Amino acid sequence: MLKIDLTGKRAFVAGIADDWGFGFAIAKRLAEAGATVCAGTWPPAYGIFTKMLERGKIGESLNFASGGALAFERILPLDAEWDTLADVPTEVRENRRYKEHDDFTIQGAADRLVNEFGAKPVDIVIHSIANGSEVKNPLLETSRKGYLSALSASAYSFVSLVQRFGPLLRPNGAFLSLTYMAGERVIPGYGGGMSSAKAALESDTRTLAYEAGRRYGARVNAISAGPWASRAASAIGFIEKMIDYAKHNSPLPEAIHADEVGTTAAFLCSPLASGITGTTVYVDKGYHAMGVAVDAKT
Ligand code: NAD
Repeated sequence: MLKIDLTGKRAFVAGIADDWGFGFAIAKRLAEAGATVCAGTWPPAYGIFTKMLERGKIGESLNFASGGALAFERILPLDAEWDTLADVPTEVRENRRYKEHDDFTIQGAADRLVNEFGAKPVDIVIHSIANGSEVKNPLLETSRKGYLSALSASAYSFVSLVQRFGPLLRPNGAFLSLTYMAGERVIPGYGGGMSSAKAALESDTRTLAYEAGRRYGARVNAISAGPWASRAASAIGFIEKMIDYAKHNSPLPEAIHADEVGTTAAFLCSPLASGITGTTVYVDKGYHAMGVAVDAKT
């Protein structure tokens, strides 16, 4: 029987802080396919997430339908806005949510995996991170600072991950990021430079596929997901309306579930997808294919 088999592989999933986002759903499916999973968690959310795990508050969600359960091999603090500790301003390092962690930068996470697991510690790297301080502002009302911080946390962070984890990958490694249709089409309300960040992320997926393919033999893809009421999406403020709209106007008239992103990610990171790189795969019930809204009176 043909199956997704990730036995013996290790994944680093950056952007998990609860059991409801795409990062968690991806981690769970990678683990169910046999991979060991290390998580990268934003320092401001690290304490809450690790306590929830310790206290068994998310025990149910860890369980596989097929038996067994997701157990994170490591949970590393990671703030993907910083490449090395030398870049981090003193006020961030001394912030109470950061100072308990040694090195929470992208390079810090890479170094820790090498120290703990050897020179080639990882096969799969997932970027499931987005942050835009002015996401609620229309682009016309976005400051330079807000725009650049959206690009830094949500797009450049992926470039930096590929730079720093590329040399650490074992043969046939795979990178994957999460994008949204707002990078290609206008989604009013998805502001603050976040649409620009997603456009950059998708373009970088193609360029990095070429560069990391030639240099490391790695594949680089993105999943463009339909709307899902994660913590990040709920903070934008109109996610339920987006879900409802997508549901009524998609070829498959139903909402997506994070697990569908998880299974697609497991496939894209597996040897079954060895011919796929530089691609954005839609997990959106086909919404991207539509040219008109079908729930509107014509
Ligand atoms: P989420 O809140 O579960 O995930 C976002 C994660 O990013 C959180 O864990 C947060 O702690 C982390 N994060 C924020 N800033 C960070 C930083 N500087 N360093 C490290 N981590 C940081 O929400 P999600 O919706 O699952 O988002 C995951 C990805 O999916 C994002 O790239 C998002 O844009 C994308 N996406 C989401 C939707 C949706 O509707 N939810 C649709 C398409 C794409």
